[in-house]
Amino acid sequence: MNAQTPPESLQPVRWMPLRERGQHEVFCGLTSIVWLHRKMQDAFFLVVGSRTCAHLIQSAAGVMIFAEPRFATAIMEERDLAGLADANEELDRVVQTLLARRPDIKTLFLVGSCPSEVIKLDLSRASERLTLAHQGRVRVVHYSGSGIETTFTQGEDACLAALVPLAPSSDQDQLLVAGSLPDLVEDQLLGLAREMGIPLVQAFPGHRAENLPAIGPGTRVLLAQPFLNDTARALTARGADVLVAPFPIGAEGTRRWLEAAGQAFHIDARRTQSVLAAPLARAERALEPWRARLMGKRIFFFPDSQLEIPLARFLARELHMELVEVGTPYLNHQVMSAELDLLPAGTALSEGQDVEHQIDRCEQARPDLVVCGLGLANPFEAKGQLTKWSIELVFSPIHGFEQAADLAALFARSFLRTDRIGSFQEGAH
Ligand code: SF4
Repeated sequence: MNAQTPPESLQPVRWMPLRERGQHEVFCGLTSIVWLHRKMQDAFFLVVGSRTCAHLIQSAAGVMIFAEPRFATAIMEERDLAGLADANEELDRVVQTLLARRPDIKTLFLVGSCPSEVIKLDLSRASERLTLAHQGRVRVVHYSGSGIETTFTQGEDACLAALVPLAPSSDQDQLLVAGSLPDLVEDQLLGLAREMGIPLVQAFPGHRAENLPAIGPGTRVLLAQPFLNDTARALTARGADVLVAPFPIGAEGTRRWLEAAGQAFHIDARRTQSVLAAPLARAERALEPWRARLMGKRIFFFPDSQLEIPLARFLARELHMELVEVGTPYLNHQVMSAELDLLPAGTALSEGQDVEHQIDRCEQARPDLVVCGLGLANPFEAKGQLTKWSIELVFSPIHGFEQAADLAALFARSFLRTDRIGSFQEGAH
């Protein structure tokens, strides 16, 4: 088999991906607390878990720069594991102490973990009980971030889906941009939608979890993140219309995403084009030097963040990279349909993971760059394979026109590093 050609089983029949269900290597949903707690500034995330869970979120968050952090772990000790009554009492006591100390907390998320699931601690009952006990003072919401149920971006999906039923109702026409984005990016994208003439544009989540947007049949939703499958379902159940569009990644993706909003609100296409023309042209110009560096490079995506398909579409169409395999943890054909339409014909897609098989495919194909989780990156690098950490793409501002070139640079930098090492080694000889 030619190394350039994906194996036959990977050739899609109109997007029938290779489905794998085996051992997988991804972070759990607790990781998303790292960006969610920065976004919702009146919320507190209490992980009901073990010391392992506490270590995970502390190390993922790095050095805390806040005087008062907005997440913590209620550690379940061995005696909790022995008796549920103890665990519930302990949880109530921890929440009581926390709320007494922190009057600024308006929404408290109880986040389930593997240990709380294993002992079947009912966090839904706990959140009802605690909401009643602290009525008018705080809203207690629960969701699961456990590694049994979620991968790291699914934690955000579970969190937002838990908030949707609590939002008030409204028939008002509005555009709801769902998915947390860095503030600067959110301001840029919502600003363009307003300039296009859309009457009411709101972000979900907003800065205060307490002030949930009203949702109803007049709500059209644009997903800003591709991993919000449950949130999209919950919004649909409230009567909202989830628009089909590519994601705002790259110049083209951002243009098409905003155009979909314009069409949904019957905005004159000429007005949309005139608002988008300048930032679009700027983004396209800024991408040119990166295209020259990345064109023809072969890239392999392991499934991790669920951003893989939009990223692959951007790299193939705007930077002319070659897609060897695009793995995604989960493929929702409806949410992803506009993205799939834009992928180059014949792109090898895989859904789920059987990590050993996928490593074999990757090693056989010898791509120029592998995008994968931290656990796989080190062994690959040790074998001389260039890698890029997928988690870096989740933590960096990559959406929108102004960030398109920065996103290209994140990929190009991997090659610049080796070029520099190469020229240093040549110089040394
Ligand atoms: Fe580990 Fe599960 Fe805790 Fe995540 S929730 S840190 S996978 S024990």
